[in-house]
Amino acid sequence: MSVAPTAGNDLGVALGANRSSAVGSPRATLLAVRPLLEEQVQVWSSQALGFRWSELHDTTPVGGPPDQPCYCNAVLLVEGLKAPPGEAAALQLLDALQGLEQQFGRDRSLEQRWGPRSLDLDLLFWGEFRLEHPRLLLPHPRLHLRTFVLAPLLEAMQGSASR
Ligand code: ATP
Ligand code: CA
Ligand code: CA
Ligand code: CA
Repeated sequence: MSVAPTAGNDLGVALGANRSSAVGSPRATLLAVRPLLEEQVQVWSSQALGFRWSELHDTTPVGGPPDQPCYCNAVLLVEGLKAPPGEAAALQLLDALQGLEQQFGRDRSLEQRWGPRSLDLDLLFWGEFRLEHPRLLLPHPRLHLRTFVLAPLLEAMQGSASR
């Protein structure tokens, strides 16, 4: 019996920004990050992958300090990962995501919790993998509470795959 590829290993990344970076507005930042994020995930996985993107969404801030600027949000779905999920690999990907955040001017040491940031990259899930590590919780514990994540995630799931 042949087994068709399943979505069982899909990985989700949430992107958010609500302050400008060196490349410009939050929207400009996310546009600039998209190909770089694909490249990082590609390098991390060392295999052929499919990428599904949501549109860019302008959203009202939820939580955090009052009166912070609106966010631009998006979700990337990565399909076709062959390796089973694991802690070491997940932490490596988190390192890559945090490297990209820094590249776009993120400095956590200067921030309030849920305050304005030039780029936020959260790992949402990797298949059914559950992880409770001091640096990484999977699936993301607040994923199901956030319309600004769920709406783009649905869109990415329904969209057509690229590559
Ligand atoms: P939230 O997690 O509620 O979206 P946040 O994105 O503002 O909040 P950050 O300040 O960006 O939080 O990150 C704080 C820490 O969260 C990071 O240093 C990282 O180690 C940790 N973390 C835990 N789980 C995850 C995850 N699934 N994706 C990204 N970072 C995570
Ligand atoms: Ca976040
Ligand atoms: Ca984050
Ligand atoms: Ca552990």
